[in-house]
Parts: sequence; C-alpha cells; structure tokens
Amino acid sequence: MSLRLRAAAASDVGRLRENNQDDLLIVDDALFVVADGMGGHVAGEVASREAVDAMRNAYAVPGSMGDVRQAVRLANGAVWQRGDEDPSYRGMGTTVTAVAVVEGGRLAVANVGDSRTYLLRDDELVQLTKDHSFVQEAVRSGQLTRAQAESHPRRSQLTRALGVGDDVEVDVDLLEPLTGDRLLLCSDGLWDEVGDELIARVLTNHADPGDAASQLVMWANEAGGRDNITVIVVDVLDGDQQSRAVAASAALEEAGETSAGGSAAGGGAPAAGFEPPARWKAPSTSGTQDRSLMQAAGPPPDSARPRLLTWRVLAFVVVLLGVLAAAAVIVSRGGPAWAVGLDGNDVVVRRGSTLVERKPLQVNQLPAAVRTELAQGKRMGDRAEAERYVDGITRTALRDGTITPGAGVVVPPAVVPPASTGTAGSSPTTGAAAPGRDGAVTSPVPGP
Ligand code: MN
Repeated sequence: MSLRLRAAAASDVGRLRENNQDDLLIVDDALFVVADGMGGHVAGEVASREAVDAMRNAYAVPGSMGDVRQAVRLANGAVWQRGDEDPSYRGMGTTVTAVAVVEGGRLAVANVGDSRTYLLRDDELVQLTKDHSFVQEAVRSGQLTRAQAESHPRRSQLTRALGVGDDVEVDVDLLEPLTGDRLLLCSDGLWDEVGDELIARVLTNHADPGDAASQLVMWANEAGGRDNITVIVVDVLDGDQQSRAVAASAALEEAGETSAGGSAAGGGAPAAGFEPPARWKAPSTSGTQDRSLMQAAGPPPDSARPRLLTWRVLAFVVVLLGVLAAAAVIVSRGGPAWAVGLDGNDVVVRRGSTLVERKPLQVNQLPAAVRTELAQGKRMGDRAEAERYVDGITRTALRDGTITPGAGVVVPPAVVPPASTGTAGSSPTTGAAAPGRDGAVTSPVPGP
C-alpha cells in the first residue's frame, strides 16, 4: 500500500510535577518519537530533548530497520556524552519509543525503557513494545501478575534507558500497516494512570487524532496526573481521509490551541493542543467562522464618516448582522441535527433519524437527570459536541461506580475499592521510596 499517515500530539506536565521532562517529535508524518527524561532539576528535560534532537538528525526517511536502530543508538550516545561532559547532568537518562516509516511502506517500532507504542486495529488495542522495567520483566518471567505490577512500588524503575551507558540494546519490530490502523505512542504518565481498556475506548470514540490525543491527556489528569503525560496518535489513512484530517487539524490550529508541552514545534507537523478538564465546552471553531463571515460582509459601524450612521443605517446593520448570524448557524449546523439519545437501554449518537454510533453505556448506569435528558433526545450542535457529552456522562458513571472500566483503569480515589496489598517477592516495607523516576534506573540483576 502507499503509506499515508496523519499524526497529532499532546503533552502536559500533569498535576503534581513542576516541569515536563517528556519530549516528542513529529517529522514529516514519517518519524514519531516520545521520550521521557529522568534526572534531577532540569537534567530530565535535557536528556529527553537531546534524544529527540539526535533522532531527528540521525534518521533519514525512509531508512531501514537497521537505520532506526542506529538512530536510537546515536541518540543514546548523545545523551551519554552530554551527561559525561557536565557534572550537573550526570546520571540523567531517558526512555524512547519511536515509529518510523521504513522502505517498502512499512513501519519500524522501536523502544528503550517504558514508553509504549500501541496499535489499535479493528477496535482492538495491542501493546507493540515491551517495557524495559523491573516489574514488566518480572511479569514476563511469571514472577509477578499484571495486577501486582500495577501497584508495585518499583513499577517505575527501568532496566534499560538511553544515556546511562555508552551503548544500549534497542528493540525494533516491523509492522505492516493497514488503512484504518491507529498507533499510539505514549509516556508512562498515560498508561500508568489510564488502563488499556479506557485508552482503547477513547481511541475508538474520537475519530480526529487531535481530539483523541487531548482526551487521553485529559483522562490521565482526571485519574491523578501524577506524572508528565505525552501522547502521539498516528492514523494510517487513505487519500480521502487524509485531506479531511488535514482540514480538521487546520481548524484546530485556527482555534488557537497550543501544545502544553510545546516540544512539537521543532517537528513540523502540528501538535493538537491539550484542553484542560475544566473546559468541557465546545471549542471555539464555529465562533471563529462566524467572526470571519461577518467581517467579510458587514460594514463596520464606526466607518470613516460617522455622520452616515443614522438610525436607518443602524437598523439596517442590525438586521444584516442578524441575517448573517442566522446564516452562520445554518452553515455550521448544516444537515440533520445531532443528538444523543437512547436505543432500548443503550446510549446512542444519532444524526436526524440515523443511528450513528452505539456507545458502551446503558441508561441504568446513569443518574436520573441524565436519563430524562436522554429519553427526550439531547440535541447537539455537532458530532464533536455529542462525543464530549458522552465523555462527560461516562465520567460521571465512572465516578459513581455504576460502570467499572476494568483492571488498570484508575478512577478517583473515592470510588476505588481498596487495592489488594500483597506483592509477591518484594517487601512492601520499602514504602519510603516513592516510585519517582529521578535516577531510578536499576540493573536487572542487583549489582555486587
Ligand atoms: Mn514518566
């Protein structure tokens, strides 16, 4: 297939950290990198930035799998050397996960550390990378269960990272992409807060990659936001889809959204912005359209000759603006109306009388007020508004505990059942050690 990709990203400092040590890179929709730096003060930021810059310089699209591996090794060398030169950066390191277009229209997926790349194909989410972390290696060797790993005090400790040695072993796999595939690159600030099931649901429910990216960051913050959160969503498209996505992405940019991480600026492709959870309202895209429409057609009331502004002119202007506003509403809401309602017990999105999407949410999981709204059919301005509404009531149901998103999804503490405490093989008395990632690279085998 001829490979066409479209990506959007979001990065956020989270709710507890003071700075964002994650970094990301998008080059020509052909190379995508997420790096999660660690080290005291600014060292973590330096490490992830250094790795991302080195990847950009080292990989020419489309290379081979070996070229991707070599680029990651060069990035390792760059971080290692920087730490060696400056004592204040000593001990810094960074994870990296990368997706790169290679010869033959295929994708190479590389990683070192615990930043992950996932594939969503046919609504099923698969983790493509294997974490190089203490607990995930213990899970793979059967020493820990997945559930134990999720609450393990050492779950942030890495067994491999860039910049901690003069060379590094890099895992690289090859993926044969299909139209409709969606890839997700992310730092542990996402997957440690938001379980795979919810990640899959958000990726499935948000067609626009920018929406999906910002929603994932929002959910990670909702779940606690204890770490920096960085995501890149990459869609494998056919030609038509691509032009639609470009238009949508441009609209997002026009709305004035910026990446909280700010690191995508070096990449080239636009990074869709993160919307903080407080802003559940519609984005201002339609407002922007209204404004430009009126500027184009409406005479400015304070013209160069103010004496012309008689009551009749004023009345004319008011009527004209009213007509234009009505026209703008019709333009932005063209076609049958969107609504969220019910089909039997299921929550569904409709356009006119057409059932567009059935949501994994049922009426008896919702508060009475919402049931009433849904029974009548809740009118929405557009598809995006409908999705936001469904996200909102899903969040309410999660909070109320009427839906349980399954293992791994962290819901607000008030409704979390008490976690099972025992962890095999390791004493929980190491409680003093918060699983912060500052310098937390451990050797797989305890050193002498
Ligand atoms: Mn992290």
